[in-house]
Amino acid sequence: MSKGLLIVISGPSGVGKGTVRRYFENDERLKLAYSTSMTTRSPRNGEVDGREYFFTTKDKFEEAIKNGELLEYAQFVGNYYGTPAAEVERLRNEGKNVLLEIEVQGATQVQQKIEDAVTIFIIPPSMEELERRIRGRQTEAEEIIQQRLSKAEQEMKLMGQYKYIVCNEDPKLAADLIKTIILRHMELEENA
Ligand code: 5GP
Repeated sequence: MSKGLLIVISGPSGVGKGTVRRYFENDERLKLAYSTSMTTRSPRNGEVDGREYFFTTKDKFEEAIKNGELLEYAQFVGNYYGTPAAEVERLRNEGKNVLLEIEVQGATQVQQKIEDAVTIFIIPPSMEELERRIRGRQTEAEEIIQQRLSKAEQEMKLMGQYKYIVCNEDPKLAADLIKTIILRHMELEENA
């Protein structure tokens, strides 16, 4: 059995990464496992510890950095976010294709460590549409919305670092494109 792929999906906050993912994550051919990140941000309504994230304190997060427990980490709008390395390795060794949904600084770290990572950047149809989607979520204060929008502009400049760019005009179509990318990489891995 070959080791599973490491798949990195990034895209500006509000682009609809979660919605796109829901259209492909249950396709068994993709053999996906979803890595749960650690974060110091507070849970949003409905988010559950250990499901969306492992919610933790700044001290505990910095301890994990010091102990080298994270495959990558970054600060995003005032909070830490990071991927626990051991779980990713365990799942890949079981032949699962591990999916990371992370922002661009973290994706850059992953690309440096794991050259054959399959990296995908999701873009919105336009910046106006992105703003509409972020506001539609209605979970954040205006100040945070502004920070996320300006962060989105910076992130979009880095899309060239990724192997694939997928536009989320329609989530099902975006999901189908991502499925095609993953299935082809699985095929290449099998024939390697
Ligand atoms: P949110 O607060 O909206 O859940 O996430 C903010 C940003 O952090 C999103 O772009 C999300 O993809 C990213 N993110 C989530 N988990 C991680 C992680 O483990 N590492 C990094 N670098 N970014 C993450």
